[in-house]
Amino acid sequence: MSSILQCMDCPQQYPIQRVIYTCEACGGLLDVKHDFSAIGKTITPGLFDERLGTFGAPYNSGVWRYKELVYPGVDDQLVVSRMEGNTNLYELPRIGAYAGLDTIFLKHEGENPTGSFKDRGMTTGVTQAKALGMERVACASTGNTSASLASYAARANMQGIIFLQDQKIALGKLAQGIAFGATCLQINADFDRNMELVQLVAERLGIYVLNSVNPFRLEGQKSIMFEALQQLRWQAPDWIVLPGGNLGNSSAFGKGLLEMFEVGLIDRLPRLAIVQAEGANPLYRYFRAGFKNFAPVKADTIATAIKIGNPVNLQKAIRTLEWTRGLVEEVSDQQIMDAKAVIDSVGIGCEPASACSVAGTKKLVERGIIKRGDTVLGVLTGHVLKDPEATIGYHADQIEGIAPSYRNQMLRAKDDIDEIVRLLN
Ligand SMILES: *Cc1c(COP(=O)(O)O)cnc(C)c1O
Ligand SMILES: [Zn+2]
Repeated sequence: MSSILQCMDCPQQYPIQRVIYTCEACGGLLDVKHDFSAIGKTITPGLFDERLGTFGAPYNSGVWRYKELVYPGVDDQLVVSRMEGNTNLYELPRIGAYAGLDTIFLKHEGENPTGSFKDRGMTTGVTQAKALGMERVACASTGNTSASLASYAARANMQGIIFLQDQKIALGKLAQGIAFGATCLQINADFDRNMELVQLVAERLGIYVLNSVNPFRLEGQKSIMFEALQQLRWQAPDWIVLPGGNLGNSSAFGKGLLEMFEVGLIDRLPRLAIVQAEGANPLYRYFRAGFKNFAPVKADTIATAIKIGNPVNLQKAIRTLEWTRGLVEEVSDQQIMDAKAVIDSVGIGCEPASACSVAGTKKLVERGIIKRGDTVLGVLTGHVLKDPEATIGYHADQIEGIAPSYRNQMLRAKDDIDEIVRLLN
């Protein structure tokens, strides 16, 4: 069961033992390509159903349950796992009603061990680091990638190194990186510059880069689609809606959906809708311009996880849009925070960036592109506790430029039963 690194833009291939992120010949992004020809017929819904509820590694992980599709050749002993994945798929009529749909399915990737889907990519990325014999791993991050890297590096006994912006990092994420013992570098540069810096420094020092430019990250993230489709009993929804920042997930979803289609697990491809924040919308602009003259933007949004102006995986995301007849939407910070408040209010909750899935769905329904009766699968990418300042700021009406339309105002009372009773009546 062989896997190779395949350039997406030219015929060049590289062995998976090489530490390489982009094509030496043309600069293109690389894919991990597995040869399914020998095992294709053994990949059936039954194989994955059988593994549900097993206690033993690696199939107790919601990533490695699909090992044949994720990284068939890797030795089980090398797998660094926190039983990631296994996240819930919620059917939510109240959120459906908010978005103008009969119903909506939301897959909550905030239920991963460190609170975001990044764990699914980190288990495969750190496993590959171990297979390569690397001792140090690094990433640039708006927060969640670093939280996840810090955790998995610690589990694997490696040094984790994280490049962070020196401002506007959500507190929950920063706390995780420090707590899990990573070497945390705060740099006075935005995410996009940190992304350049980490690659240059890593090359000099022989450190393994675990941003989503690393194709092994995307192999793990594909499993969001595998697991969601298993939960939907392999009935493809009409739409899949997700936030887009560095576009790793968008890229992974396209690859995973296509592979499921190729091995016969699903019989049609859903359409993908990538949703960006208005203040960090380079893909949206490029899409609207018919993919002419790409220009990075200076990113600014309350949804810090997608505050990215020059997405690394741009070309793979465009490929996904072609494969899935996909489209790109943008939403304002106001729309993001209102959708988040609604998702939070049903008792599920998410961080701001995740709410793009619902805010974007609502906008696409209003525009008549998604129809009321369509089946929509939205992905909630991060946990509600990641960014407490945004949540509290919204409900306290303390975020400049955002009105809390779905406010849950804090009540205050003196130590006085009559006053409390009056307040609660
Ligand atoms: C990383 C992240 C995103 C953006 O995903 P990309 O793959 O970079 O497009 C969105 N939401 C959350 C919570 C994230 O952590
Ligand atoms: Zn190439």
